[in-house]
Amino acid sequence: MVIIKMKKYIFVTGGVLSSVGKGVIVASIGKMLQVRGYKVDAIKIDPYLNVDSGTMNPYVHGEVFVTEDNSETDMDIGHYERFLNKDLTKDHNITTGQIYLEVITKERRGDFLGECVQIIPHVTDEIKKRIRKVAYSSDSDIIVVEIGGTVGDIESLPFLEAARQMRLEEPFTNVIFVHVALVPTLSVTGEQKTKPLQHSINELRRIGIQPDIIVARSIKPINPEARKKIALFGNIREEFVFNSYDVENIYKLPLILEEQGMGELLIKLLNLQNNEPKWDEWKQLMLNADNPQYFVSVAMIGKYSKLKDSYVSINEALRIAGFWLRTKVNQIWIDAEELERKENTKIIDEILSCDGAIILPGFGKRGAEGKILAAQIIRENKIPMLGICFGFQLAIVEFARNVCQLDGANSTEVDPYTKYPVIDLLPDQKNIEMKGGTMRLGAYEIRIMKGTLAYEIYKKEIIRERHRHRYEVNPKFYDILQEKGLIFSGYSLKDNLVEIAEIKGQFYFLTQAHPEFKAKVLNPSPPYYAFIKRLIENKLNRRK
Ligand code: GLN
Repeated sequence: MVIIKMKKYIFVTGGVLSSVGKGVIVASIGKMLQVRGYKVDAIKIDPYLNVDSGTMNPYVHGEVFVTEDNSETDMDIGHYERFLNKDLTKDHNITTGQIYLEVITKERRGDFLGECVQIIPHVTDEIKKRIRKVAYSSDSDIIVVEIGGTVGDIESLPFLEAARQMRLEEPFTNVIFVHVALVPTLSVTGEQKTKPLQHSINELRRIGIQPDIIVARSIKPINPEARKKIALFGNIREEFVFNSYDVENIYKLPLILEEQGMGELLIKLLNLQNNEPKWDEWKQLMLNADNPQYFVSVAMIGKYSKLKDSYVSINEALRIAGFWLRTKVNQIWIDAEELERKENTKIIDEILSCDGAIILPGFGKRGAEGKILAAQIIRENKIPMLGICFGFQLAIVEFARNVCQLDGANSTEVDPYTKYPVIDLLPDQKNIEMKGGTMRLGAYEIRIMKGTLAYEIYKKEIIRERHRHRYEVNPKFYDILQEKGLIFSGYSLKDNLVEIAEIKGQFYFLTQAHPEFKAKVLNPSPPYYAFIKRLIENKLNRRK
């Protein structure tokens, strides 16, 4: 007899505003259950009509995160991976676009012949099917499902309805609801106002969902009066109200919620055994974060430097490396476009005063010349550097121009008519017309050359890193670049593309991949770790 394990579901809804850090709360909920020995999965539902987030502007929407299995997802998937220490897949990010595409394809195929195809039940059935698919295609005990957006949005209604139905369909203690909503503070009186939260709960109840737990999001810890009101108007006990207040270090949130008793309550409501939570490793890292021994500064050179969320995985990869090395990483944001202006000496000085630099990923012409100039300054001054994806490509353009004397060398993405197209479209990208999901995406194996910085970093011959690009180093220029001293230290195993380049005798590490997508709190990314370690070593050597 096959025993099918019962799955538990936690639906997390949001009220008042979006972007209040619901993803981090979801990840923290998962963590509290994971440290008690349960296997946890997390799903992000995005109610927008895009099929995936790959076609959205990171300046508005935040980073596009790439999973191991080559899908472009919402950046919250990155938070879940970093907290839960596991790789998620394209199935973990559900959008309205995917659901409707599937339902309409089925309708055209004739799967519903004779029926009138409707939001309820056809769309809601598709939603439930996808959630259960994640549950039953893994060995997870608990699935935390974040319903993106805000309660009351037209777009999120079918998802809330599907969640409501699941509560009825599953055994009584298998589905619970957590509602996260903002409690704003009036700047004049400092008063914490719970009315918007009350309204958002009314909205939920109107469609048949009574939250079991409420998490109030606030700037400062909420006062007892506010808590009382939330419980009374939210129709729950006071001890079922939790508070997520602003913290500089988001990885402390699971510990904060644990201290308030949320882990224990989740377990009780789900009717599970409350195993002793094992927080030791996590707490140690947070202790390291609170007591840094070293301080390093990193120049972050990019185009979207005004919205830090567009580089969230890089920021977190640096912070995580810092946890392990007891180091506080101070990021100095440099706008690549500013660097292109004539009177830029101040910005150049700013780069030179940093311990290290990163040339950030990106797309298109804007800011490209600034990044190329930055690469030159950094290379010539032997400042330790990571060049990530577009940063890798433009650093190679710089090397071609200034070391190989290929005047006017460029990427054809920036200048389609350049005389020296050292970076050019990948062959299988040339005839692509559809933009969605067509880049070279996801994890590929890379062969690392022994005796290189890359090998020192990874200590392995075959590694896997994730990708998101359309351009590559043009094989026609391999010889001249190598003759002039650029070392190709990593090639893709499958098709021999240059994946990693470096310069002898300095920490100048250029990679076509995005190693930051694989950084996890309990498992830092090797290049980011090695980079921060080098910055510390350089500082200590200078002091001698
Ligand atoms: N724009 C470059 C390409 O498409 C780099 C992309 C990136 O930095 N993610 O190849």
